[in-house]
Amino acid sequence: MRHLPYFCRGEVVKGFGRGSKELGIPTANFSEQVVESFPSDISTGIYYGWACVGNGDVHKMVLSIGWNPFYKNIKKSVETHIIHTFKEDFYGEILSIVITGYIRPEKNFDSLEALISAIQEDIEEAKRQLDLPEHLKLKEDNFFHLPKGKIVNNH
Ligand code: ADP
Ligand code: MG
Repeated sequence: MRHLPYFCRGEVVKGFGRGSKELGIPTANFSEQVVESFPSDISTGIYYGWACVGNGDVHKMVLSIGWNPFYKNIKKSVETHIIHTFKEDFYGEILSIVITGYIRPEKNFDSLEALISAIQEDIEEAKRQLDLPEHLKLKEDNFFHLPKGKIVNNH
């Protein structure tokens, strides 16, 4: 897959209320500026990698790069579901991610149940892949250990 591994850091903003959290799969959305900084030819679909909120621990994640309904599907959205249970929401915090692999293209589902079970399969696939040495090594990348307060996009 082109552009991988892809490193990205940015603020967590309010999404467009798709109700991801109600499905048990909250997705932390990046701002429009951060999304614009992605390579314009990066494929939409479901990816996996590592994520860290602020200076917190690095966790496994699944990520969707999709078409943003808020902008009539002409702009992309980038949403990260961190495979970890957080005590509180973290809007406004800095999310650092490295995308290490690709799972599948975007799909339309006939039912909510089909959507949820596909996402659960994506999560299981991500967990398995991220235990492989080539993906696991990125968990320890210096990108996740920047000095406090330093905020850089796309490094
Ligand atoms: P929104 O439409 O505002 O993105 P979501 O329903 O997708 O709302 O919920 C996303 C928010 O949930 C994140 O911005 C974050 O503050 C919070 N959150 C809590 N746990 C997680 C998690 N494991 N992964 C991602 N976001 C989480
Ligand atoms: Mg969201």
